[in-house]
Amino acid sequence: MSSRSDRLATRLEDKGLDLMVVTNLVNVRYLSGYTGSNGVAIVGPELRVFFTDFRYVEQVTEQVPDFERVKGERDLLGDVAERLRGRVGFEDGSMTVRAFERLKGLVDDSVELVAAGNMVEELRAVKEAQELDKIRAAAQLADSALERVLERGLAGRTEREVALDLEEEMRRLGAEEPAFPSIVAAGSHGALPHAEPRDVAIDRGVLVTIDWGARLDGYCSDCTRTFATGELNGEAAEVYEVVREAQERSSEAVRAGANGQEVDAVSRDIISEAGHGEHYGHGLGHGVGLEIHEAPRLAPTSTDTLATGEVVTVEPGIYVPGRLGVRIEDLVTVTDEGREVFSGLPKELQTV
Ligand code: ZN
Ligand code: ZN
Repeated sequence: MSSRSDRLATRLEDKGLDLMVVTNLVNVRYLSGYTGSNGVAIVGPELRVFFTDFRYVEQVTEQVPDFERVKGERDLLGDVAERLRGRVGFEDGSMTVRAFERLKGLVDDSVELVAAGNMVEELRAVKEAQELDKIRAAAQLADSALERVLERGLAGRTEREVALDLEEEMRRLGAEEPAFPSIVAAGSHGALPHAEPRDVAIDRGVLVTIDWGARLDGYCSDCTRTFATGELNGEAAEVYEVVREAQERSSEAVRAGANGQEVDAVSRDIISEAGHGEHYGHGLGHGVGLEIHEAPRLAPTSTDTLATGEVVTVEPGIYVPGRLGVRIEDLVTVTDEGREVFSGLPKELQTV
């Protein structure tokens, strides 16, 4: 853990900051190892202080060995304020206005609070080997869970039954929880990219989009497959092949140095050429780690450049309102040699 806070401390110096006060709990976990619900970290070149309340004092002796540990009052900010000096970065993307105003009232005049943006999130984008192992394991667990669910078939069960079955299988296989609410969307319901599973039985001869992920040891996985429940009409089979082509080509474009806009464009060009440009309304992909959506982004407006160790989804889709939807999503990490795909399930259209 210490190397992460060392990396942050180096960045602080580049930005002319003396300290950073980290209040976003995911970032606190990333830097310190703390998994509880009330903790704040202060990091500076010579300083690592972690604050929590009495409920967690026991837990943090094991979880946060590399920080000086301070037991504070419940909201911690009074204790935090006492340790601040100079130019202090704070997480303006997540700190509440109320917490900010309170902290400002508590620090003395020599302290300047500086909006520091997403400094920890930027560090989190590039994964260490042990983080990649966890994400890979989460992806494999999620694959196994879906395989078990598919053995029981799709047609005739409701979308909600399938989603529940899948979430239960993930937990049985050791997941802490689903990484996000699973999507199971059949037929025309698949035209909604964020469809919620309904109490409606899945027909034969339709497409079913399943988007699911597991959280394992804090880390998320994310995958989508679209299945057929019998013979499809020509349009559905055609759309499926366009998405598959777009997914595979754009996945191959993931490499260190590529920018998020370029990789997205590979998928968008293929889908537009097939006449479905207006049916592909979302970006190609997003980073995945401790959170299901994190940096970097693959999208028409992305300014991110991919680097070795980043993990992104590659998930183009075509959504034809009132008729059908197809999305295929893999979890991919950027390596020195190119990429490694964590999702292991086949992408040729499977009939279940
Ligand atoms: Zn997904
Ligand atoms: Zn996704």
